[in-house]
Amino acid sequence: MRGSLVQVLRPVHTFPELRDMTSNTHQLAAFLADIAGISHSLDSHTLSVKSKDYFWYSPLLQEALGDKLGQILVLPASEEEVIQVAGAAARHQLPLTVRGGGTGNYGQCVPLQGGIILDTSRLNKVLAITPGFVHCEAGALMMDLERAVRADPCVPGGQELLMYPSTRDIATIGGFVGGGYGGAGSIRNGILKDPGNVTQVRVVTLEAQPRVIELQDADIQKVHHAFGTNGIVTQLTVSLKPAVNWVHHIALFDSYPQALRLCVQATDAVERTVPIGNAKPVVPADPPLDAFLITAVERRFAPFYAQAFGDRFPAHKDAVFSMIAPDHLATWRALVAAHGGQETMALTEEALTAQGLIPAFECGWNHTTLMALRHDRSWTNLQTIDSWPLNIDKVQAQMQRWGDEVLMHHEFARDSQGPVVFGLPLVAYFDRDRLYEIIAEYEADGCVVLDNHVYTIEDGGMKTIDSAQIDFKKIADPHGLMNPGKTRGWSDEMAVPLSIM
Ligand SMILES: Cc1cc2nc3c(=O)[nH]c(=O)nc-3n(C[C@H](O)[C@H](O)[C@H](O)COP(=O)(O)OP(=O)(O)OC[C@H]3O[C@@H](n4cnc5c(N)ncnc54)[C@H](O)[C@@H]3O)c2cc1C
Repeated sequence: MRGSLVQVLRPVHTFPELRDMTSNTHQLAAFLADIAGISHSLDSHTLSVKSKDYFWYSPLLQEALGDKLGQILVLPASEEEVIQVAGAAARHQLPLTVRGGGTGNYGQCVPLQGGIILDTSRLNKVLAITPGFVHCEAGALMMDLERAVRADPCVPGGQELLMYPSTRDIATIGGFVGGGYGGAGSIRNGILKDPGNVTQVRVVTLEAQPRVIELQDADIQKVHHAFGTNGIVTQLTVSLKPAVNWVHHIALFDSYPQALRLCVQATDAVERTVPIGNAKPVVPADPPLDAFLITAVERRFAPFYAQAFGDRFPAHKDAVFSMIAPDHLATWRALVAAHGGQETMALTEEALTAQGLIPAFECGWNHTTLMALRHDRSWTNLQTIDSWPLNIDKVQAQMQRWGDEVLMHHEFARDSQGPVVFGLPLVAYFDRDRLYEIIAEYEADGCVVLDNHVYTIEDGGMKTIDSAQIDFKKIADPHGLMNPGKTRGWSDEMAVPLSIM
């Protein structure tokens, strides 16, 4: 059964009607008929779970998004099935939200206007591993990719991903490109958008007759961090480097400034040891240092880590979690000692797992907040960027100013322009006004705040409308059906009615 002609020709300016989910029963029935044979679910509990991500970190997003629900979950297992779903969604003018692992923090894969949730978890094949590259389907988990490229013999000793979020084990590569930024590995290889990190994507358009578009190199920015608003990514190619058996390390310090001073010196050394792209260091590091993660966490986080690490991170010490190249461990230990630090852990991932410990990257990035939230849901966090070199006196002044209201955590990373310090402070939530007062105080200190309490691309990290992404949306999602409400660059008037396509 197909939708009636009236439904198929319904112009998109009636689209807000879909907010009343009882009004599109016929469209849903027609859509279901068109996707016969493709795995799907209408189960209300499943839909409730698959309509959420980690937006609950933010009390403001919890309030705004907690009741949003998709109406049908589809699980295509091939690009052909994605094309079938995309064509049916366009013909029946149903909103469609793509979901990978559902680990985004800003409601990126929450369907604001109901409709279809396209779950990519069955699109998970590793298609080809060659020296320097892995080509895979978008729903592949990054952990599975990492295992596959490490085991593949095309490079002796195996290869590794250049970076992954601290959610490596449960997030997809498509979701990382669609909603992520950087993570473990960014200290060594820059952030996701730096040239050469992702080299190719295949995108299915949301049209009555969907097309497959291949984007390469700089054109990939058209879909990177677009929150799945402008095409369904089905396949990608990402770059690899020879595998390193990183040593997961904890060092403890008598003060947070001491820990930060180590991190600043180490980041500078990594920058001069491992160039990003073709840049050659002006003055090579002496001695060289190679690291995959450098994370500073102050002592007030220690109770949240007690179960994971016990005395390895006690409440009277500040910690640096890192992943260090085994050949550079002696240099790292000397640096730690020179800054007054004390080593409490130095284990490979295999050894960690054998001892039931968690990897260092799960002690950093947004996992640090998760550690706290597991104990007490009243915390939230902020995302800030400090200028380089980090002004440690300013951090000390902030700690004095905010006291127990804000707990400090800094991530040391690089992009193609040089070092970057991300702050992921934990904030004791009082109310919206106080949260935005703290944001204003950060900004007055010269920090950039990437607002993680909003759900549009532009109000959060991107700040401005990316016209290249919107131009691509006109091609890949001309009816404006993809993850509606997530980009300010698109308005209902821009949608092309189905009848005139
Ligand atoms: C504890 C924790 C730690 C985190 N640490 C980091 C970190 O270190 N670095 C970081 O960048 N982020 C981090 N995040 C955010 C998130 O985990 C990552 O961005 C992750 O890569 C998202 O992958 P996912 O598969 O869960 O994507 P999802 O959340 O499912 O999707 C993210 C966005 O991409 C879109 N999307 C997904 N798949 C596709 C596709 N195939 N085609 C088009 N669009 C698509 C979705 O519609 C959505 O808008 C963290 C989150 C949590 C909760």
